[in-house]
Amino acid sequence: MEKCLCLGCKEDFERRGNVPGQKYCSRPECQRERKRLWQKEKLHCDAEYRSNQVSAQGKWTTKNPGYWKQYRAANPGYTACNRRRQIMRNRQRKKSCKKRIAKMDE
Ligand SMILES: [Zn+2]
Repeated sequence: MEKCLCLGCKEDFERRGNVPGQKYCSRPECQRERKRLWQKEKLHCDAEYRSNQVSAQGKWTTKNPGYWKQYRAANPGYTACNRRRQIMRNRQRKKSCKKRIAKMDE
């Protein structure tokens, strides 16, 4: 079997023969990271996937009203952290808009 370095935990693992190009070991946290990055990429590039996700989340929220309100009440740390992150995301968005505008002048 071929040994290679896991992109998640940076440790050696043996590639499974049935998974060509495997870059993550089978640890749950590494698989979670792989899935997270896959979804991030997919959301960025695939408009249909993105709209499916939005509609699925909408349906879920309708079925589970008040979930996020309760979650925020039970996890004040999450709320504070998310607020800071949203400020960063908004800044990033502004920056990337400026970049696009600058490119149009070239
Ligand atoms: Zn790993």
